[in-house]
Amino acid sequence: AIILGIESSCDETAAALVTSERHILAHKLAGQEEAHRPFGGVVPEIAARAHVDALEPLIAAALDEAGLELADVDAIAATAGPGLIGGVMVGLVTAKALALAAGKPLIAVNHLEGHALTPRLADPALCFPYLLLLVSGGHCQLLLVEGVGRYKRLATTIDDAAGEAFDKTAKLLGLGFPGGPAVERAAALGDPKAVKLPRPLLGSAEPHFSFAGLKSAVLRARDAQTHSAEDIAAGFQQAVIDCLIDRTKRAIAVAPGATALVVAGGVAANGPIRAALQQLAAAHDLPFSAPPLWLCTDNAAMIAWAGAERFALGLTDPLDVAARPRWPLDPEADKVRGAGV
Ligand code: ATP
Ligand code: MG
Ligand code: FE
Repeated sequence: AIILGIESSCDETAAALVTSERHILAHKLAGQEEAHRPFGGVVPEIAARAHVDALEPLIAAALDEAGLELADVDAIAATAGPGLIGGVMVGLVTAKALALAAGKPLIAVNHLEGHALTPRLADPALCFPYLLLLVSGGHCQLLLVEGVGRYKRLATTIDDAAGEAFDKTAKLLGLGFPGGPAVERAAALGDPKAVKLPRPLLGSAEPHFSFAGLKSAVLRARDAQTHSAEDIAAGFQQAVIDCLIDRTKRAIAVAPGATALVVAGGVAANGPIRAALQQLAAAHDLPFSAPPLWLCTDNAAMIAWAGAERFALGLTDPLDVAARPRWPLDPEADKVRGAGV
């Protein structure tokens, strides 16, 4: 089957065509960095308007690149949440209109499910169940991915997400926006041992993550004016790595049966984080899987792929399906602890 995927939940507008045989026929993406840079972060209203301007030309360009028409597509998948609701609605309403006009089924995709299943687009050998570290701008979770739509959340953050910590650190250090890649570049030039920074919840018996204290420590280190931005960035990144590894190690111990260790989400594009997780997997004799960098940060191929996985199971949605600003992957775990969803 051929699936058209649409993504518009944050500050990337994207359209892609992906087949159930894992062929990415076309993918188009328009970032909005320039529009948001003056504000040092994503402004929801600016994002929604930019999605309106960018989306239809991107869909047309994707179809053109693939040499297809809408009639050739088997289903239309769009992010229906979680995310900035204005942007989500732009993508979802566009998908509904196309589905209605072309008489195609609609698939409402959870953006987090897009991140969670994309490792299987990149790696055909990756089977359920796998242990997933989902690290992105709004989330930091450990999940046992048991199947499509079947997620057991083992841990989440009690305050900031990992990507949020990167973005705030970049802002504090004046490294620019978007923050993750800027911090990674600066960290490569610094000494990770020069500044002593905390590792919140390291070794804790509870499973969760915390990054707010680390961010405050970055602020104090900056104000002390004793170290370069590069050294602070390197210290920060190493602290994040230590926390991610410690928490993931704990999850490996309590989640026997996982066939692989997998990382996904925008922060999974970070080289040293990928390398540390790969080492951790090797130490536990687990296969390691991570999508290529461009499939880690937001894109539409991941939404098309999640759509393909759902379509194969007959999971389509009615045209009146609602956009959801919040949409936990594991609603049961979310009842127990709502943070980080
Ligand atoms: P969510 O998926 O939780 O809704 P989002 O869609 O905004 O959030 P993603 O696009 O998945 O987030 O990821 C963006 C985040 O990834 C940003 O916080 C960004 O700073 C971070 N990021 C991107 N590249 C890197 C990198 N190389 N190193 C560290 N962080 C990175
Ligand atoms: Mg973005
Ligand atoms: Fe995302």
